[in-house]
Amino acid sequence: HSLTVAEADGDERAVEAALRPRTLDEVVGQQRVRAQLGLVLEAARRRERAPDHVLLSGPPGLGKTTLAMIIAAEMTAPLRLTSGPAITHAGDLAAILSGMNEGDVLFVDEIHRMSRPAEEMLYLAMEDFRVDVVIGKGPGATAIPLEIPPFTLVGATTRAGLLPGPLRDRFGFTGHLEFYEPDELELIVRRSAGLLGVELTDDGASEIASRSRGTPRIANRLLRRVRDYAQVRADGVVTLDVAGKALDLYEVDESGLDRLDRAVLDVLCRRFGGGPVGISTLAVGVGEERETVEEVAEPFLVRQGLLARTPRGRVATPAAWLHLGLEVPSSQEP
Ligand code: ADP
Repeated sequence: HSLTVAEADGDERAVEAALRPRTLDEVVGQQRVRAQLGLVLEAARRRERAPDHVLLSGPPGLGKTTLAMIIAAEMTAPLRLTSGPAITHAGDLAAILSGMNEGDVLFVDEIHRMSRPAEEMLYLAMEDFRVDVVIGKGPGATAIPLEIPPFTLVGATTRAGLLPGPLRDRFGFTGHLEFYEPDELELIVRRSAGLLGVELTDDGASEIASRSRGTPRIANRLLRRVRDYAQVRADGVVTLDVAGKALDLYEVDESGLDRLDRAVLDVLCRRFGGGPVGISTLAVGVGEERETVEEVAEPFLVRQGLLARTPRGRVATPAAWLHLGLEVPSSQEP
């Protein structure tokens, strides 16, 4: 990477890139996935073959792109990045695949959002390292098989369950990324603070960590917002007091819930009496896309024990009512 952290500072995406761990050893937490992936890569290196295709699943900001970059780096292979929504036609995918060299790593973010024809082309490419390029239209169309050198596909998805079975089955390894524990996020915050040159106290770091929704991307983002606050309203040092005030200002509450999280609970409890309510209705209620509610807000609320998915819809738990400062209705008492 060409930018130093100091140079990149100010450009959020460049900062994010500069804060990414570069090796499996630098990755904090995710012990299980790290050990499993480490073995897959080591075995591939010994056999001098491209590793099996890898699927990474988990909510946004937990490190899927970071791991894809590390896979390529550890295999000393070039990485190509694309995303499901960018591949609208099978031809888009054919163009990418035909440009691959042996051992290249192809990262497809949001792979569950690829178009159907592209998905079918991908099955063949993953299994037989071949694509059928269709030339012409109608009865005169012919399919020309094209060989592609063995490559490694790394797919990322917010939920493995969103992928059709045949696609899921073609990955040799699936890693599920979990939300991070506060002590892991604290390590990430300290590491990032070191790289960004931010001075922070132990309780300042732990305050940011515990309010980061279990998500490294959010921890890094909050660190930068808290630093702004420390520089403008205090003496530049991130203390417990500074972190707490800054996070209140940015509407991140003590449990790390942000505005959307609270809006979901609020609509669920106040408007729908705690549910059950369907996800689409809930999304309309908070004025957000269904996908955002389902893939961003919901996993964290479920993990915090504030929301439950039931066959009849989403339900607020007693803890959700208490979190909003409301009385738990007698019908909801455990
Ligand atoms: P995803 O692709 O799952 O949305 P990213 O890989 O883009 O998430 O990670 C978001 C940010 O969080 C990155 O900039 C990276 O610095 C940081 N990050 C993610 N996972 C870790 C980790 N295990 N250790 C340290 N930093 C991490």
